Amino acid sequence: MSSNHGNRAPVVAIDGPVGVGKSAVAQRVAENLGFRHLDTGAMYRAVAVRLLEHEEDRRTVGTAVGIARNETIELRQDGGVWIGARDVTESIREEEVSRQVHLVADDPAVREALVEQQRRIGLQRPTVLEGRDIGTVVFPDAQWKIYLDASPDVRAQRRVAQHMAKGRKVSLREVQTNLQERDDRDRSRQVGALRVAEDATVVDTTDMNEDRVVDLICAMVNVSNRASAEAY
Ligand code: C5P
Repeated sequence: MSSNHGNRAPVVAIDGPVGVGKSAVAQRVAENLGFRHLDTGAMYRAVAVRLLEHEEDRRTVGTAVGIARNETIELRQDGGVWIGARDVTESIREEEVSRQVHLVADDPAVREALVEQQRRIGLQRPTVLEGRDIGTVVFPDAQWKIYLDASPDVRAQRRVAQHMAKGRKVSLREVQTNLQERDDRDRSRQVGALRVAEDATVVDTTDMNEDRVVDLICAMVNVSNRASAEAY
């Protein structure tokens, strides 16, 4: 992959559609490599939580941008998510937030503010960033770019399993419809749309378990650029 990184901290960019298993994979890859893990979706969700609190001016573009620019978002390595002085670890996963987060993620000015924060964090130390636009917008020159994919049916089944593990009962049909809507939104967004970066390695995980995906990505990093990681 691209080689002109000087002594910059190594970046692993992982992108892919909703329900493909990015977060779990990125977290384990980061642990294995001793890198920091940055779930960029959690940042968009944190802004959405704050925006939903301003019910009356929810659709006022300025409000979301103001939050994204002025409130500090902290993603702790124990999985905790904070915005300003508030712990939003639980609330960012609420259904209402999942439904409304596009109001935040579709806004180019919000994206600009969050992308800037993501770059700053990624430049500090070795990081695995996961999202939709990491390899295309946030770190187009990342040393490792992986695009995780899987068939819509398998992604829906994985989502159902995640819900069930948390004790929530959902129908496969409902999840499939929701997934389709979110895919369409992710792919048609004006700025930061989900797409495969030209130089990304596409990993179709339809028939792979999580262990294999994690091993594959760690092997890519260890083999392809060990020297540059060690030099850092
Ligand atoms: O991945 P997750 O579902 O948590 O992402 C939350 C929202 O943020 C989604 O609507 C997703 O499209 C958006 N997102 C984004 N760019 C990223 C990460 C997430 O637009 N880099």
